[in-house]
Amino acid sequence: MTRVLVIGAGLGGLTLAHALVRAGLDVGVYEADDGTGERAQGYRIGLAPPAMEALRASLPQRLYELVEATSGSLTGPGLLFDERLTLLSSDLPGPEEARALDRQVLRQILLGDLGDRVAFGKRLKRFVEGADGTVTALFADGTQATGDVLVGADGGNSAVRRQLVPEVKLIDADLCGAMGRTPAADRFLELVPGRGTMVKGPEITLMLGRMQFDREPCEAAAELVPGLPMPFRESYVRWVLLVPPEHPAATTPGRQDARELVLELIDGWHPDLRDLVRSADMSGVGRSKIYDRPMPPWPVGRVTLLGDAAHLTLASGGNGANTAMQDAIRLSAGLTEADQGRRDLISALREYQHDLLERGNAAVEVGKQALHKFVPAGGEAR
Ligand SMILES: Cc1cc2nc3c(=O)[nH]c(=O)nc-3n(C[C@H](O)[C@H](O)[C@H](O)COP(=O)(O)OP(=O)(O)OC[C@H]3O[C@@H](n4cnc5c(N)ncnc54)[C@H](O)[C@@H]3O)c2cc1C
Repeated sequence: MTRVLVIGAGLGGLTLAHALVRAGLDVGVYEADDGTGERAQGYRIGLAPPAMEALRASLPQRLYELVEATSGSLTGPGLLFDERLTLLSSDLPGPEEARALDRQVLRQILLGDLGDRVAFGKRLKRFVEGADGTVTALFADGTQATGDVLVGADGGNSAVRRQLVPEVKLIDADLCGAMGRTPAADRFLELVPGRGTMVKGPEITLMLGRMQFDREPCEAAAELVPGLPMPFRESYVRWVLLVPPEHPAATTPGRQDARELVLELIDGWHPDLRDLVRSADMSGVGRSKIYDRPMPPWPVGRVTLLGDAAHLTLASGGNGANTAMQDAIRLSAGLTEADQGRRDLISALREYQHDLLERGNAAVEVGKQALHKFVPAGGEAR
């Protein structure tokens, strides 16, 4: 039986692990963090039908039912306002049928049923390919694991990618995002009646998205998957502000004072928008620099990449999780065929890489175009 080492227990790595377990392969997932609560893990993501289908095809039925139960609607018009909340457009483009999911809730669900296949506190330092066709992962705590294939699903700053394709560097897109979560009072929900709202100020853009759980996650988990740890979550409005490149905040990433920074930048905006930011749950406020990175091919072998490790979308906003989940389904299909002797492993990995680069680089481009539609390169106004 093929043993697959998955580096990183994020959205893509865990989806892959479920798909492989379902197909009968032997999987070990190795996550750098010591546990799931180590960093702020939560923000709202929108999953389009192909990503929901990838989850349905990978997860045990009861876990998929919990995904559906804890998701929320993302239908309705995408709105564009100016900073005084004058409506400029009500037909912003976006997927018609996407579902909203909270990343932390989704990650808890994805950890369900994997048990001790997932090991925390395992930060990959490097991997070694053996002459016998095996791959060994060496972790920072001095331990190691050996398998037939190693998948780098370790996110945007992937250690696997840095060793496998060292010439690829992150490109600093010279933008900074500040984000937060505000409990969903009616007047805040009214700002986001549909699949998303953009507020375009003179130089900066505030993006709003609603996360209105069909069912509160703890309650739904207790009924559908008893015993599954789940954070208590109330519905919220997620906001992301893109900070102009000339602002000092764009070059000093960190969590400190993100809310004050946003309030300073939206000084004079409509009071409802300022109240939205002022009422944010500080545990969900953070800032991060935004990077962009298209990916070249690499020599095909028993080590491959998946998700943000392979294609980091600008702003990570639009489609990174959607793309990672499709990577997972396609990689699992190839590895399963090879495991069952229906094809050669390396040719399956070659085909996967080809498809990954084509779809992934296209997704990076889509993210870039979508972002620069609202925040032109160089920080021009509107
Ligand atoms: C505010 C925001 C909103 C977003 N909204 C959307 C959206 O609406 N739709 C969408 O499709 N995408 C969205 N994204 C992007 C999406 O979250 C990512 O693209 C997605 O999580 C990528 O999944 P992944 O599995 O590749 O990486 P991740 O989910 O980042 O997981 C990587 C994992 O690897 C671990 N790791 C890192 N280094 C190591 C190491 N050396 N050894 C072991 N483990 C390691 C990390 O701790 C992490 O758990 C959004 C992102 C942000 C920031």
